Amino acid sequence: QDKHYLMIPGPTPVPPAVVAAMSRPMIGHRSEDFAALHRRIEEKIRRVFGTVHEVFILTHSGTGGLETAIANVVSPGDKVLALITGNFGERFAKIARAYGAEVDEINFGWGKNVDLTVVAEKLAGDPGYKAVLATQNETSTGVLNDIAGIGALVAKTPALLLVDGVSGVGGIEIKMDEWHVDILVTASQKAMMLPPGLAMVAVGPKAWPVIEGNSAPRFYFSLPAARKSFEKWNTAYTPNVSLFQGLDAALDMMLAEGLENVYARHILLARAVREAVLALGLRPLAEAGYASPTVTSVYSPEGIGADDIRKVLKEELGVTFAGGQGILKGKIFRIAHMGFADKMDVILAVAALEMALTRVGYPVELGKGVKAAQEVLLGR
Ligand code: PMP
Repeated sequence: QDKHYLMIPGPTPVPPAVVAAMSRPMIGHRSEDFAALHRRIEEKIRRVFGTVHEVFILTHSGTGGLETAIANVVSPGDKVLALITGNFGERFAKIARAYGAEVDEINFGWGKNVDLTVVAEKLAGDPGYKAVLATQNETSTGVLNDIAGIGALVAKTPALLLVDGVSGVGGIEIKMDEWHVDILVTASQKAMMLPPGLAMVAVGPKAWPVIEGNSAPRFYFSLPAARKSFEKWNTAYTPNVSLFQGLDAALDMMLAEGLENVYARHILLARAVREAVLALGLRPLAEAGYASPTVTSVYSPEGIGADDIRKVLKEELGVTFAGGQGILKGKIFRIAHMGFADKMDVILAVAALEMALTRVGYPVELGKGVKAAQEVLLGR
């Protein structure tokens, strides 16, 4: 089957305009051309991050971006508070531990969001945290966390707030400065509509003295080194030039649509998917109040393995949904609607789901989910 529909939370489909930009001739990364490209990107990406401060574009995957944040802030023995709502919250905590942090974890449960009262209590009880780690959008569960709320709490303490925005930034509104986020990380292959390979790491003013004073070893991941090169619109090491060219084009698309419209589109698509699965008698993992705008997790029906549904989708229909991770493996499937996603992607996903459910022995009224999605998409 030649035609595939990739509906996983990264990598996501890349728009033709971005592909075209990435196929432009290579330019030297120490050239004036690169400096101009870098400057253009920076001006635009700060609007997506909601910051006036530097956003470093680093040639890493998302995890490399998270490690950059940790390596520059955490020294062995430092106390760190990790707010965990799933797989990626756990990974952030693991990275901190790898750098010698003493990590206190609050696990809110897979499928639940961060409870601000619990965070407030924890911060009041122990003022010694150097950093608090949070996930904006927990990709493994499809849960959106309240970063503004967490930021307001952490801002009252000396701790830095480090946020993993890998599957959110670009698709979900975030206001780094206003919400008191000290380091915000995202990656290229999700809502930013690019192939994998870039991490974007923004650093606010509260973080710099901590970064400068940090004693942990770092070289490729050094933010002071990145800052030094950035002053000349350069990067410390050879960057992925093609992805920079693609990022320039992707940001143009986002700003032409209007960031408010981009965020509203993601919310609308998520609502359409949610209403569709509910109409089919399925249960979303996350409650409506904190369901992710970029990815929807759905329990498979009683007695039917989620991966059996995914197998039919992939092999018979050419549609790829993501499976569950960790403790949710085989129990849920995840439908991504992030980045270069529109109304008809949702209709296709739901129509395919109805067919696959029927094939695995969970007969549904064909068209019922599609209709529910259509109603939402028509604004009814
Ligand atoms: N954090 C979140 C929230 C993610 O969704 C992902 C990727 N699924 C990562 C971190 C890791 O990114 P990468 O795979 O690019 O290292």
